[in-house]
Amino acid sequence: MSDQEHVLQVGTGWVPADLAINAFGLISPDNIFGSVGDLRLLPDRNSVVDIPSDSAIPGVRVYLADQVLPDGSPWNCCPRTFLRQALRDLREQTGLQLAASFEHEFMVRDSPLTAPFSFARFRSGEPFGTDFVQLLDGTGLNPDSWLPEYGAGQYEVTLGAANGLIAADRAILLRELVRDLARRRGLRVTFAPLLEPGGVGNGVHVHLFLRDAEGGPAFWDPGRPGRLSRLGARFAAGILQHAAALTAVTAPSVASFLRLVPHRWSAGGIFLADRNREALLRICPLVSLGGRDPAGQLRLEYRGCDATANPWLVLGILVRAALEGIRHDYTEPVVFSEAATDVDLASVPALPKSLEEALAALEADATVRSWFHPDLLATHLSVKRSELATVAHLDEAGRCHAIADVY
Ligand code: GLU
Ligand code: MG
Repeated sequence: MSDQEHVLQVGTGWVPADLAINAFGLISPDNIFGSVGDLRLLPDRNSVVDIPSDSAIPGVRVYLADQVLPDGSPWNCCPRTFLRQALRDLREQTGLQLAASFEHEFMVRDSPLTAPFSFARFRSGEPFGTDFVQLLDGTGLNPDSWLPEYGAGQYEVTLGAANGLIAADRAILLRELVRDLARRRGLRVTFAPLLEPGGVGNGVHVHLFLRDAEGGPAFWDPGRPGRLSRLGARFAAGILQHAAALTAVTAPSVASFLRLVPHRWSAGGIFLADRNREALLRICPLVSLGGRDPAGQLRLEYRGCDATANPWLVLGILVRAALEGIRHDYTEPVVFSEAATDVDLASVPALPKSLEEALAALEADATVRSWFHPDLLATHLSVKRSELATVAHLDEAGRCHAIADVY
């Protein structure tokens, strides 16, 4: 048996306390696992990606892995298993399936000054841009678009939709492919939600598509507000109802909540709206050009996420919230219009103003807490609080810089 086949069958050694390492590379002082316990990192054959060699730098084969017990049974704190189980419950309890696509923004630091969205910015991103898109193509990550964004040195990349687990896997791989290529090209990139408190944000927008058991579009109903089906409205209601707690997982850094404020085109409040970039949940536009069928295009875009979050946990927690809304028939939310003004939105609930507030909302929401194994929840809380303690002496700018340097 080849070494590779051996590892594919039995994995490699791993330690529970690795989950308790925070963004700054420190094991949280409240690490509940202590120095004991053993796991296996079991690669998933289907997640394989080959990064080709590049002049002096060798290529590498990458697999994503589940964290399992030495007998192969699931570890109750594995984030990838968390998503797989959420998708399984959605399918078993409703017959529905989720597809998703992650839209990432990031910045190439020290870029030359160019105009927002300009051809000059697009070209000043070369040859990185072309090499990157070719890499995405070659590794099967299925790029949809690559474009210059609004902020200095900012770019956006969106992948095509894929089934839930694959979509989250690809979000993780995408970040590593960007960082790896940048390292090889001598560029400094960051996915941090903000480089400076007043600067332009880097969001991660999660596009959610719901399919029925036959694969047909389950969000589509042209006779209803936003053309969103009743099922879709309950799906959205679950996410909105638990949104404050969700952000403790989807925007979990000490800089994240400086981005999640009104008038930043990130998410200015907890509401659903038709084609409005201030909404936490946005109904995206539909393209009918060339006779295209809008039904399968209808998707909900969750905008309250950034790249300091774990895509497996993000998608898992969104699925859990949506499932709650569907199963318990949550009251349908208002679909605010594209033209909603600040006055129209005056009564919508605000997002948490800080990571501390979001963590408190997570602890206060018994429904959301119940989706996690207590060890996974305790570890998330302790890791995040240890990050807060690490930057406690820094002002807002210092916190942004600290996060920008590690993401
Ligand atoms: N940069 C914005 C954010 O922080 C998103 C802009 C957009 O692509 O709509 O989420
Ligand atoms: Mg963008």
